[in-house]
Amino acid sequence: MTRVAPDPPVRPRRGGRASYDRGVTLPQTAQAPEATPHDATALGVLRRVFGYDSFRGDQAEIVDHVCGGGDALVLMPTGGGKSLCYQIPALVRDGVGVVISPLIALMQDQVDALTALGVRAGFLNSTQDMTQRRAVEAAFVSGELDLLYLAPERLRVEPTLRLLERGTISLFAIDEAHCVAQWGHDFRPDYLALSQLHERWPDVPRIALTATATPATHTEIATRLNLTDARHFVASFDRPNIQYRIAPKNEPRRQLIELLRTEHPGDAGIVYCLSRSSVEKTAEFLVAQGVAALPYHAGLDAAVRSRNQSQFLREDAVVMVATIAFGMGIDKPDVRFVAHLDLPKSVEGYYQETGRAGRDGLPSTAWLAYGLADVVQQRKMINESEGDLAHRRRLAQHLDAMLALCETVECRRVRLLDYFGQQGEPCGNCDTCLSPPASWDGTVAAQKVLSTVLRLDRERGQKFGAGQIVDILVGKRTAKVEQFDHHTLSVFGVGADLGEGEWRGVVRQLMAKGLLAVEGNYQTFVLTEASRPVLRGENQIMFRRDPERQARTRSRGERAPQVEMAPEAAPVFERLRAWRGAAAKEQGVPAYVIFHDATMREIATLMPTTLAELGTVSGVGENKLAKYGQGVLDTLSGGDVAD
Ligand code: ADP
Ligand code: ZN
Repeated sequence: MTRVAPDPPVRPRRGGRASYDRGVTLPQTAQAPEATPHDATALGVLRRVFGYDSFRGDQAEIVDHVCGGGDALVLMPTGGGKSLCYQIPALVRDGVGVVISPLIALMQDQVDALTALGVRAGFLNSTQDMTQRRAVEAAFVSGELDLLYLAPERLRVEPTLRLLERGTISLFAIDEAHCVAQWGHDFRPDYLALSQLHERWPDVPRIALTATATPATHTEIATRLNLTDARHFVASFDRPNIQYRIAPKNEPRRQLIELLRTEHPGDAGIVYCLSRSSVEKTAEFLVAQGVAALPYHAGLDAAVRSRNQSQFLREDAVVMVATIAFGMGIDKPDVRFVAHLDLPKSVEGYYQETGRAGRDGLPSTAWLAYGLADVVQQRKMINESEGDLAHRRRLAQHLDAMLALCETVECRRVRLLDYFGQQGEPCGNCDTCLSPPASWDGTVAAQKVLSTVLRLDRERGQKFGAGQIVDILVGKRTAKVEQFDHHTLSVFGVGADLGEGEWRGVVRQLMAKGLLAVEGNYQTFVLTEASRPVLRGENQIMFRRDPERQARTRSRGERAPQVEMAPEAAPVFERLRAWRGAAAKEQGVPAYVIFHDATMREIATLMPTTLAELGTVSGVGENKLAKYGQGVLDTLSGGDVAD
């Protein structure tokens, strides 16, 4: 394709075309005192449009590479700053940046956030009517857009491809690129077709981005997207501001409300549950406890789902109780905690879900409650899952890695990074670092459990769960023990040295290590191949000693620490928050689209008195300064709340 002569990037805008209703908004030009209006370099755009001083990590190199027309595969954790990696090249290069994203429900918010920055963005997806679509198409063809968001399925239809050929494309950004990986739970067949972009537009650079990538997924993305010559940028996956904690599950809902009350009162967060019914029950429970909680799962009406999602994004302190159907692409920066009430199926899933906490870099909590029933349930689900043996084996490997993370006595972060092929040091900000659990030689205990299971197994047709095993070991003559004459077994009472809770922990860890399995529809334990050497005393088994009670890493009443702010700045921050809430409501955008908390904290500390001074704050670019600057200054000087 031939290129037309390059326009000056981030073209000066003439007049203000307010909006084409839905799908595209052309912002007004801003005149910021500090701006260097024609600095079209990547750094110039970063400072002027986004209001940030410098690039982070690999951003500068990635931006440079893509601006120069190179393909890139970018692996960066959530909150790492992936968006700028394609948004800035799209502004610097000639033409429109086409962003392929599966997140239709979030496109409007993404476009709103760009519009607030003065970037001309639009989207095309199934939520629009013909008129709206036509308007966006016209804007695209005439080069009046900087960025165009498309759902991947659009690219499979010929009219879209023909439309794209009529405009000038600066780059293709393939967001959530792990969706091309066959084994991920986010797999979308539409993504496979994206490998053809290169054939049709050989000169247009492609940048694929994801926050999920074990080395295997990483390779799969590169292969399936045909990114043979792409440069790979792999950032550290560490999220130092997230405190990882995995607690023994006793009474999960009570544990959860305790976490919310003691450490996260009034904070936004996400609570993940495995099933739709537990989502609903947990949300009801939280509401009854006075928490502003909302449910989200695939079984809810689409309108309810989108209302709940938008409330979560727009209001300050909503707790979303959800299945994993919720969350991909949610870029709310101030999610302060992610709690799992059920065990995730893989470390990748866990990391992606917990990664939604603390995108703004402020301290956040990832908390998971985990117990024996989780292991039993997940193993059972794998046994019953459809798909061939290889598929089930893969699921089992994913689960095993997750279980190893739960049962480790080492730093959680070191284990997590290791899973992604990266090295780390004990972090001092996870539960095992903060209160190190002991490990103990459980070889004999393991043998006691295994021989009990062996004896039970002989009684055909009976179903005995962990409770029966523990009762036998501690020597408890319950009705069920007597009914089956289990008090006459040689193992009856041989485990009086440990408590019932400890025995349950042993059974759980044997399950986690694959030394016990469940069979049939009920929780009937059976031995595995790996159990034999243990019974024969050939293997030493180490167990983790569960803390007596949930390790609390922050003392009672102590909230997750926030960014340094002088005490006198706190009321100012609250005033700014009120101003921001009112402005967001009036404009129908999420509060963070106006300013992030971190930006407002800096403003509250600096107390600028002029627009020029306000413009130096990180996150205040030329457009936001023009649009909100006066409102902020008025709020600071105690004047009326105004937009
Ligand atoms: P990701 O898509 O990788 O999850 P985002 O692109 O949403 O991350 O960026 C995370 C946060 O970091 C956003 O609030 C973004 O504005 C901010 N950010 C990104 N790059 C920079 C930078 N160079 N300087 C300051 N803040 C940045
Ligand atoms: Zn640690």
